[in-house]
Amino acid sequence: MKQLTHMMKPLTGLVLFGSLLALAACGGEQQQQQQGAAAPAETQAQKETIVWKLAQTWGTGFPIFGDAVIKMADMVKEMSGGELEIRIDSANKHKAAFGILDMVKAGQYEMGHSASYYWKGKDPSTMFFSTMPFGMIAPEQYAWFYYGGGMDLMKKVYDKHGVYSFPGGNTSNQMGGWFRKEINTLDDLQGLKMRIPGFAGEVLSKLGVVVTNIAPGELYTALDRGTIDALEWVGPSLDLNMGFQKVAPYYYTGWHEPATELQFMVNKEAFDSLPAHLQAILVTAMQYAAYDMYAHSYHESAVNWASIEKEYPDVSIHTFPPEIITEMKRINDELLEESAANDPLFKEVLDSQRAYIKMARKWTEISDYAYLKDNLE
Ligand code: CA
Repeated sequence: MKQLTHMMKPLTGLVLFGSLLALAACGGEQQQQQQGAAAPAETQAQKETIVWKLAQTWGTGFPIFGDAVIKMADMVKEMSGGELEIRIDSANKHKAAFGILDMVKAGQYEMGHSASYYWKGKDPSTMFFSTMPFGMIAPEQYAWFYYGGGMDLMKKVYDKHGVYSFPGGNTSNQMGGWFRKEINTLDDLQGLKMRIPGFAGEVLSKLGVVVTNIAPGELYTALDRGTIDALEWVGPSLDLNMGFQKVAPYYYTGWHEPATELQFMVNKEAFDSLPAHLQAILVTAMQYAAYDMYAHSYHESAVNWASIEKEYPDVSIHTFPPEIITEMKRINDELLEESAANDPLFKEVLDSQRAYIKMARKWTEISDYAYLKDNLE
């Protein structure tokens, strides 16, 4: 485990980026040269291919999230010279979108790609490693993961689940959702039927919202037919393809998922049995794919949103009024305190995140926030 702890420390950004770019640019040539140079026979004999299987929550061809997984697997194969190959099974195949943790723990799959807050029902402490309502934004959260103790805490939480967990790509700030009607007062939330999973759902249900979770494939129909009055999904990167803007034109800004981080999982035994150089390659590829997905998500949201005014002029952006936000915050804190009182590890992660945000937000305020506030186009 010494090796893993060592590798969990952040790899120096520039060095990593430089070597990855070099690898991407000339990986093919290097391979050819090596093959052409006739490596010694014993070196070739040692290189047996290890084949792993990865189960993802997402369906086949799922954009952005699925792309991150493919990118990671491609990098591992190329960087390892074919020594480690990761084959991906999507939810269409394994039929267990929310069974990833169990399958990786059992060793049925060596790896998984999902989101840590899906395991909230098994272990509430896992949700901290996705995002928290009113929590950190992506740069703050990545700083917490890699430099602020987050990786160690994630390892501690997942220890009893038989897997190692790693950041798996960030969606950036998620939108508060699509509403068929405008929300002006707390009364407007009474009896409102909304699809919103996770801790945020618990907060809203205390405010009178009838919270449901509906499979992604049925969301549009549910909203269109009025089975639900509102829903949240991700943001423009993935929402517009779903067509929600056609039936619920009030698009609210986010409060509940300020930096949703997906998750790579690796079965402990499988990871520990890998030679050190393949462990290093795997950890590097996961970290690269995670950062890359953050950039990819941001890009897709920007591109999609840029086209919305022209294509759907009825869509308007709203922010929940202060009286609602204040109540959400109050209830959020109350629920967190309740859980922390019964679970020392939950409290440990909560305290760590709270202390980090308190410290880091001061920097965010005088850097990005100050800059944006005065320089919006
Ligand atoms: Ca969401």
